[in-house]
Amino acid sequence: MKKYKRHLITSALPYANGPLHIGHLAGVYVPSDIYTRYLRMKGEDVISICGSDEHGVPITLKARNEGVSPQEIVDRYHAINLKAFEDFGIAFDIYSRTSNDVHYETASEFFRTLYEKGEFTEKTTEQYYDEEAGCFLADRYIMGTCPHCGNENAYGDQCEKCGTSLSPNDLINPHSTISGSKPVLRETLHWYLPLDRYEPWLRQWILEDHKEWKTNVYGQCKSWIDQGLQPRAVSRDLDWGVPVPVEGAAGKVLYVWFDAPIGYISATKELTPEWEKYWKDPETRMIHFIGKDNIVFHCIIFPAMLRAEGSYILPDNVPANEFLNLENDKISTSRNWAVWLHEYLQDFPGKQDVLRYTLCSNAPETKDNDFTWKDFQARNNNELVAILGNFVNRTLVLTTNYYGGLVPELGVTLENDNEVLKEIGRIRENTSSSLDAFRFREALKEAMNLARLGNKYLADSEPWKVIKTDPVRVKTIMNIALQITANLTVILEPFLPFSMDKLRSWINIGKLPWDEAGRGDLLAPGHKVNAPGLLFEKIEDQEIERQVSRLEASRKANESASSKVMPSKDPVTFDEFTKVDIRTATILEAEKVPKTTKLLKLKIDTGIDVRTIVSGIAEYYDPQSIIGKQISIVANLEPRKIKGIESKGMILMAEDRDGKLVMVTPSEKVGNGSPIK
Ligand SMILES: [Zn+2]
Repeated sequence: MKKYKRHLITSALPYANGPLHIGHLAGVYVPSDIYTRYLRMKGEDVISICGSDEHGVPITLKARNEGVSPQEIVDRYHAINLKAFEDFGIAFDIYSRTSNDVHYETASEFFRTLYEKGEFTEKTTEQYYDEEAGCFLADRYIMGTCPHCGNENAYGDQCEKCGTSLSPNDLINPHSTISGSKPVLRETLHWYLPLDRYEPWLRQWILEDHKEWKTNVYGQCKSWIDQGLQPRAVSRDLDWGVPVPVEGAAGKVLYVWFDAPIGYISATKELTPEWEKYWKDPETRMIHFIGKDNIVFHCIIFPAMLRAEGSYILPDNVPANEFLNLENDKISTSRNWAVWLHEYLQDFPGKQDVLRYTLCSNAPETKDNDFTWKDFQARNNNELVAILGNFVNRTLVLTTNYYGGLVPELGVTLENDNEVLKEIGRIRENTSSSLDAFRFREALKEAMNLARLGNKYLADSEPWKVIKTDPVRVKTIMNIALQITANLTVILEPFLPFSMDKLRSWINIGKLPWDEAGRGDLLAPGHKVNAPGLLFEKIEDQEIERQVSRLEASRKANESASSKVMPSKDPVTFDEFTKVDIRTATILEAEKVPKTTKLLKLKIDTGIDVRTIVSGIAEYYDPQSIIGKQISIVANLEPRKIKGIESKGMILMAEDRDGKLVMVTPSEKVGNGSPIK
């Protein structure tokens, strides 16, 4: 492999319209963080870049729905995500944002360079325009009927019911979601990046020169290229984003896919005046960490942009992950089916490493994978507590008990001792080669083998028994166990930085470089170590049950939201409607009708009179609790006998999907007998 002078690590810019969840972490940020920490420990010159992606239509839509400005939306989520990353120990050198000035300048300049070099094509097309609102409509601002499944709420880019990709012209009866009016087609000019021109070059650069890329990444690139690349618009009509910096482009901004990756460059500029050496020197190795939904942007489109500009380097690798599911269901922000990072950090304080460990052990590296709370608990209790925590604890407790915390001399070593000492070096090598190949699960498993090795070594040599017969031998055993402990702080540091910080403080050493791992003399005889605390704690069933029931609540809420609402009844005339006399009334008395389960006999003050109504609500209301409650009734329903009681009228109830009945009560108290119309 080529030896580079420095590394530029980028991590996909999270979209600033929602908080981060475990899918983001497993796909992008945990692996990028592990890799960055590893390179730093190897003494490499490395910078790690990230920030919020703050433009695009979903942000303007969310702002409109909440009645706030897009800036308020991005400010909110930038702050939440910045803090969550910090608290979770993701070691970016900078977490910037695409709404800041440096980015506007950088993105404009990038566009102008390509524009002046003639790298864009221009095309006038017809697009939907909302005459009432006075603006062009982005795809998501147009709704209509899906031509495939008849869903009346399909968007201009996709029908979420049948999943078909659409263009706004496909929709039947399109309407604007801004004004509700029927949009008209109007001509508009846009700039395009002619990706078709780059096809032969991309074919060579990816399919021939980068066969080492992960198979899921390589395969997706190949299929895009084989399908034939099309020119792609780099601008759109929108009032939120980086304005197109040429004349006659009023009301147009850079398309978010064009401006977002330039965010990596802007963030680097913000970080260091020496940004150009990271972006323009072929001695820099650039690596993009992303999820699979971003492969086309980072492997095809952004490289084409960089090549068109001409002065930038290209990524050397793009180790994209597949998706993480949650409890066998796709993670979804809109359905609240997620484990949110900021909530996790609140619910499990001090347990960042448990989540990092679970997400890395289970990372969706080659195919989609599943996160379950049971697995999270098992990884913690059976691996972190039972293997790593247990080994460290036994070693430090025995050292404290036998030697007052002073590292004993290494005496005569036996064959088994020498094997164990050699194995430490092998584990470092194996962990390195897995990390170098972006195989993080394998790397973590290998690194944990060092704790397994230590556990087995103690179990085999039984110092707690030997101490009675051969205390000199125990000094050697404990010396080796302590050397393994010191090596753990190096090899596990990229994966479990919080716990290794703790462990280093117990054994009184600082951070060691990666290449020091493998040595059997990291702790000198006589070096003082401290009695340990708990490295990991058992996670009890009830903590897991609380998380699972929170997800269950989301599932129920989603089911009732998606359940079918009864279709509208046939129209009635206004005259027909006014024949029904609906009034407010107050319940004076309530009792169960004997020998029935559903019926309550109610005495009601209707303002007109006091009367009896029998109502089938006994399953939902306790008689005592509804006395004095104001309700709505149909006052002129013909009286009828129910269980021998004459019922004069009917109480209005709302019936939800499960058949549950809820009283319809005026939002403020009004006089009894007030007509409802
Ligand atoms: Zn459809």
